[in-house]
Amino acid sequence: MSYKKIHMAKHKKIALVAHDNKKRDLMEWVKYNRDTLAKHKVFATGTTGAFLEEELGFEITKLQSGPLGGDQQIGAKIVNGEIDFLIFFWDPLEPAPHDPDVKALLRIAVVWNIPIACNRSSADFMISSDIMKDTYDRLVPDYDEYRNRPIN
Ligand code: PGA
Repeated sequence: MSYKKIHMAKHKKIALVAHDNKKRDLMEWVKYNRDTLAKHKVFATGTTGAFLEEELGFEITKLQSGPLGGDQQIGAKIVNGEIDFLIFFWDPLEPAPHDPDVKALLRIAVVWNIPIACNRSSADFMISSDIMKDTYDRLVPDYDEYRNRPIN
């Protein structure tokens, strides 16, 4: 399979999402990483975003609440190249009404080779990485091969 490069600028477009039982975790993480996050462009689902703005003290782009389509909006932005980094603290112990949307978001992030952190330690490793401060060319499979696949 061949690959194409998608350029990620120094200033990343970061989406933050947390399920209700994980919001406190995310707020603590965000408080600790506020100055780093301020160098990037931050997006979030609705309720997470409202808490984040209060904690961060700067404006972010708030989408719909997750169960109302916010996860799908983030997925669409990943496809459009408008989000290139995802921190998603989903709850492994609670069934969610929008579970298909959660799965879809995680899937589309993999399709486009977006860095994803689903818990605090992964988020810590990712945000403190040297390449976080730099440009980065993400390798994405050349989907023209898929688009042009033979159909019988
Ligand atoms: P919320 O959505 O930030 O609006 O709570 C998060 C989610 O459940 O995906």
